[in-house]
Amino acid sequence: MTHGMRPEQVWGLGLTDDAAAAISAALGSGYTLRNWPAGQHPGERDLGRATPLVIFAVKEAWDALAPSSRKRLEEWEVAQRVLVLTESQSLSDFDELLENGFLSAVSEPLTDKKVRDVIFRAQEVKSLYDDIFRMTREIMLERELLARKTDLVLFLNRFLTRATESLDPTVILDNAREDLELLLPMRGLMAILWQPGESGELEAELFLEPEMDHDAERHWTEALLRQGAKLAGKPMQSYRSTFLDGAAGRTPVDIPQSAEESLALPLRAGGQTFGCLTLYRAKGRALGKDQVQTLYASVGHLALALRNAALFSQVKVRADHDGLTRIHNRRAFDERLVEELRRHQRYGHSMSLLMLDIDHFKNINDSYGHLMGDHVLREVGKIISEQLRSTDFTARYGGEEFVVILPLTTEEQSQVLAERLRQAIAETRFTSEGKPFGITVSIGTAALTPGALLKRRDLVDKADKALYQAKKLGRNQVCTSQGPVTRSEDASLGAASAG
Ligand code: GH3
Ligand code: MG
Ligand code: MG
Repeated sequence: MTHGMRPEQVWGLGLTDDAAAAISAALGSGYTLRNWPAGQHPGERDLGRATPLVIFAVKEAWDALAPSSRKRLEEWEVAQRVLVLTESQSLSDFDELLENGFLSAVSEPLTDKKVRDVIFRAQEVKSLYDDIFRMTREIMLERELLARKTDLVLFLNRFLTRATESLDPTVILDNAREDLELLLPMRGLMAILWQPGESGELEAELFLEPEMDHDAERHWTEALLRQGAKLAGKPMQSYRSTFLDGAAGRTPVDIPQSAEESLALPLRAGGQTFGCLTLYRAKGRALGKDQVQTLYASVGHLALALRNAALFSQVKVRADHDGLTRIHNRRAFDERLVEELRRHQRYGHSMSLLMLDIDHFKNINDSYGHLMGDHVLREVGKIISEQLRSTDFTARYGGEEFVVILPLTTEEQSQVLAERLRQAIAETRFTSEGKPFGITVSIGTAALTPGALLKRRDLVDKADKALYQAKKLGRNQVCTSQGPVTRSEDASLGAASAG
């Protein structure tokens, strides 16, 4: 009866030499017996180091123990205790034996059979204890796993809910960063999203952490463009950068010192890779299997949310833009004008409006066909957009009419701009079947002086009247509501002479 290579220990408490010899003989070679003579007992060191199977305690020696030592042994769960009685002693009360935690009692003389019976029972109890211990541990482990799984499900649920709360990619990524920080220690989250432009070349949008220094921004911009190109299979033709929100107390993101600190996760939806999420991980332990699985599931959700946001913005662009010229349409203009007027009223800034109409455009259609007419409309839209600042707002108002909102622009400034526009358009050459031709436009301007209260309709009417005036005065010129600004001598040239 051996446990591994080590002999099993059996202890004695106050055994006589004869009794000790009888027990040793009965146990055989797989066991060693250690006996404390009467008056002595195992100390803390012994209890801490050894795991005896059984303690044979002679009744007198047991009774003679100091109460604290007896209590210590009673509460020691490692060894089974067996009470050893002399021939003359008899155990009158079996309950008392059990109450004191003894496995059983044996009376002298200690025969082989009595000793082996006791050992056998002790083995049984021990293996029962081991089973219970193992099962308890398994149950606890299962419970812990279950608790962790529940946490992950709750995490994913929250992540998904927050990802679909907004259709703005910046908000989606801000939320994702906040949530993913609970899953893994992170120093930053950045992303690149791309989509094919009109010519099929890829246009990218980068989402960067705010407030980083110039070198860090360059590092991450290049890293994101590289990852994008690798995943898309071709380089990004153009890109623009958007910065995520900065939370108070965050240190600006720097350049990672090792490759492991940056984790690139492709964003896929509907079988298409359209972006890449990059996590700047804090140095530390590798991710656990659970964490990796959750991370991938989260990024899957995130990809769907970002894809929806991109589709939404495409739909919105379509609703706000004119299909022919690709600049804003009248609906978008009306909306923007309300916003700008509100801003004007709040801050008292000046603002201006240009209304532009192509002269004798009907002749263009008649002379060169509608397709050429369309081309001219597109070109005029392009010229206006190119001539203006990004804060200005250009829209196709209808047929061959365009409007421009010029925030923070005085009447005089708007007239200079209008004149520049008029000239740029008049200088543009077109050709139809080898025949060159030019066009001219008439422009009406209207302005709001600081503090002036004017309704949207009034401002548009003012510009419209000025435009009418410009037409009446011979076209190819700019007029304000006060009167003409320029009067071109060749007003009769251009489209008028084309037909
Ligand atoms: P005016 O100098 O007085 O502005 O003369 P005009 O010929 O430009 O003005 P009118 O309003 O008589 O004609 C505008 C023409 O613009 C009529 C219409 O067929 C044409 N048009 C409107 N929308 C489009 C378009 O989308 N494509 C093309 N090719 N033509 C258009
Ligand atoms: Mg016209
Ligand atoms: Mg017109």
